[in-house]
Parts: sequence; structure tokens; C-alpha cells
Amino acid sequence: MTTPDGHGGGTAGFPAADPFSSAGAFPLPSTLSHAVTGARYWLPPQAALAPSAAPAPPPVAFDVEAVRREFPQLHREVNGRPLVWLDNGATTLKPRQVTEAVGEHYARDTSNVHRGAHALARQATQVYEEGREEAAKLLRTRDTGEVVFVRGTTEAVNLVAQSWGRANLGVGDEILVSTAEHHSNLVPWQLIAAERRARVVPIPLLPDGRLDQDAYRDLLGNKTRLVALTHASNTLGTVPPVAEMTALAHRWGARVLVDGAQAVCHFPVDVTELDADFYAFSGHKVFAPTGIGVLYGKREVLEAMPPWQGGGNMIDSVSFGRTSYAPLPHRLEAGTGHIAGVAGLRAALRYLGSLDREAATAYEERLTAYATRALSAVPGIRLLGTAPGKIGVLTFLVAGADPMELAGLLDRQGIAVRAGHHCAQPALAAYGVTSAVRASLAVYNTAREVDALASALYEAVGV
Ligand code: PMP
Repeated sequence: MTTPDGHGGGTAGFPAADPFSSAGAFPLPSTLSHAVTGARYWLPPQAALAPSAAPAPPPVAFDVEAVRREFPQLHREVNGRPLVWLDNGATTLKPRQVTEAVGEHYARDTSNVHRGAHALARQATQVYEEGREEAAKLLRTRDTGEVVFVRGTTEAVNLVAQSWGRANLGVGDEILVSTAEHHSNLVPWQLIAAERRARVVPIPLLPDGRLDQDAYRDLLGNKTRLVALTHASNTLGTVPPVAEMTALAHRWGARVLVDGAQAVCHFPVDVTELDADFYAFSGHKVFAPTGIGVLYGKREVLEAMPPWQGGGNMIDSVSFGRTSYAPLPHRLEAGTGHIAGVAGLRAALRYLGSLDREAATAYEERLTAYATRALSAVPGIRLLGTAPGKIGVLTFLVAGADPMELAGLLDRQGIAVRAGHHCAQPALAAYGVTSAVRASLAVYNTAREVDALASALYEAVGV
């Protein structure tokens, strides 16, 4: 079996040598060539679409095998085949530093934080607050008071909707939500809009999965209170021009919430540069445990928000007559947090920080371009979302094949992908479909694994 790039042979379609071992050997499709400039979210859409006349950037050295060694799960078999994990959009695998940090917390260092007068409480508190510092560093804010621990992106958006939304939305106000959003950046807005008699208004998509900027400009107005935007779509891979869209929203006095769930592990993020009012991500999509995530908010915005949940940790003093609240970020963190989760998040973000992020992003961009070319050549395939600068999310349909059955077929070859609506039904509806297969890449994936996927798809269509 030979893939479109001529990397054939070997069991399960693995080429003898990983073509990425000689960086620069890949001619990129012209529509994707800009993606390696590293300037993805500042590019105006038209410029991004034009085939680049610039010379190819120098090859970037990136040792993917060294990265793979840190992820034990990559070395197991599934259904008798080497695992090919292409379900990173659902969750990423964990490097051993993370599993060790979580294991050590429970095996040796268990303690609650902030309230103990003993050594282990102090130690746990230190780890917890260092985890917060790592998250602040990741998002490039200096103020750890702006970093609120939550369960994940879903809880972050619900916190903003229920606290900021209840305090700031009124009858007839509008919340603009992009059609590319995950349900977790749509349904919380529908809930609070129903309560406050506000309106949720969709920002439409262009056929390639970009957000329609002309429509967006027209939708903004003096009723707009908030814009909810993904920083990278989990279904289409689109990376909208968030900084530009935020600047436009601010001209109308609207706040902007950015869902960074799929962004933080793929490219560096700077909330100050984006000027986002809120930014959310989930730990488990950036090599950390499930159940821990971050809501970033500008200090002045968070300060003005009423507490969402009440309880321990979030108070200053309590009496039946009057209760006052702790300073940020604790005011928004009622109850015992996910302490082991933060230990894991600290380890994950330190691990991510130890990588050359520029080289890692460039590697992923090349792998995405490679995968796009490889899959595009499969007979009967339809890729949903082909926006320039997209992340490595390849959502597709194959003519005559049911997405679930296709995913089952891949699973039998040890290839993990997701099939279904991807919690983004409006995005799929824009393409007239209700279900699709999604292969999502991470920094530890290889061209070999993409070849395995392409091979299996060729087999599925009987070529
Ligand atoms: N937003 C995006 C873009 C996502 O991909 C996901 C998870 N698939 C979420 C939000 C929700 O994240 P979580 O379930 O971790 O809260």
C-alpha cells in the first residue's frame, strides 16, 4: 500500500523512514504555505489565502521521537496494532512527568491547601500556587490573581455566563457566538440569555470554515454585550483572527470570551496581545489531567463580578449579618480545588515549556499540511474546514461510508479517531451534515501515523 506521498510499505502502512526526519523535504500546498510563518492569528484572511511568494522558511529541527519517549501510552498496542492516537481534540495523552506528579501527590504528599498549619499543607499550597504561576506564564499574564482554577473550559464559560452574564445582560442585549463554537461556548450563553431575555446571535461561517468577517462587522452594534469566540475550532480547525475581532468588539464596548481549549497545546497564546477579557482552557487538552482547567479574566472585569458559587476558600469573613469575600482569584474558587490536578497541570505546563514551542508549532503545521494532502487524495473524501492557518484537526466524510463504521474500522487497526457531532452541531449543520470522522493531531504525532490513517482509509474505500 502506498500513500499519495509515496510513503508506502511496511505493516500498517508505516514507511521505513519518517519523512519528517529531513525537515524541509515537504513541498507544502500553496494554500497552507503561509501557515509556517508563525503569524497565524494576525494574518488578514485575504492575505492568508494568497499563495505565498515568499521563500520557504528554513527547516526547523524538531525531535519528535524524543517527545514520543515521554508519552508511555504511545508505546502500547490496541487491537494488536501499535496505537495511533489521533483523538487529541478529545483529550491529549499524558507525559510521564504528569502521571508521576499526580501519583506522588496521592502517594506521598496528600494534603489540603491554604488552611493547614503543617508542612504538607504548606507544600501542597506551594505546588498549587506554582501551578497557577505556570498557567499565568502560559497565557502571558503577570497577575496570578487573573488565573482562576476551574474544572475545565465548560465550567469556565458557565462561570462567566452565570456571574458576569447575570450581572451585565438585560432585555434585548446581544451575545454574538461564532458558528464554529463547541457547545460549551454556546449552551451556557443560551441558558443565561433565556433567563435575562437577551439574544444569542450566530456569527456565520464561510465555506472554508473561516468566520465571515463582513457579517461580524454588521452584527456588532450597541446591543452587543459579549462576543464568544473559539481560538481554534475543535471541528473545523479554524483559527479566527481573534485579536482583530476583539478590537472590533471593544469599539462597541462589548466583552470578549475566547475558548482556548484547542489552542494552547498547538501554539503560543498571549492574552495581553489578544486583549481578550476572558480566556478559557482545559488541562486535559494540554497534557494535564482531566478535571482541572483555567479561566483567565482581566483583573478589573473579574473584580466587578459577583461570586458564582459560595462556600469555603472564597470568603474573607462570615457572619449571619454580613459575609465578605476573599481577594482574587480565591473569590471565584469556592470549595476544595483539584489539588492533584493542579500538580499535574504544573508538570504538564513545565513539560510544554521545556519544548521549543516555535519548532513544535512549525512541526505541527507541516504535519497538518502533510495530512491534508494525504487525506485529500483519498477517493470520495470530503474535508470539512480548510481555512488557511488551521490547526491539525481533519474532519471528514467518505462517500458511502457511515462515520461511526469508518471509525470502527480504523479502531480495528489501532487508530483512534472520533466520529459523531464533535459537540459542534451548528458547525456541522453549516455543511449540511450531522456526523463526521475527526482525526486530530498533536505534537507527538508523525507522518508515519498519518500514512497509517491514509492507508486504512484507502483500504476502507477499496483502493
Ligand atoms: N471548547 C473546545 C473547542 C473543545 O474542544 C472542548 C472539548 N472538546 C471544550 C470546549 C470543552 O472542554 P471540556 O469538556 O474540557 O470542558
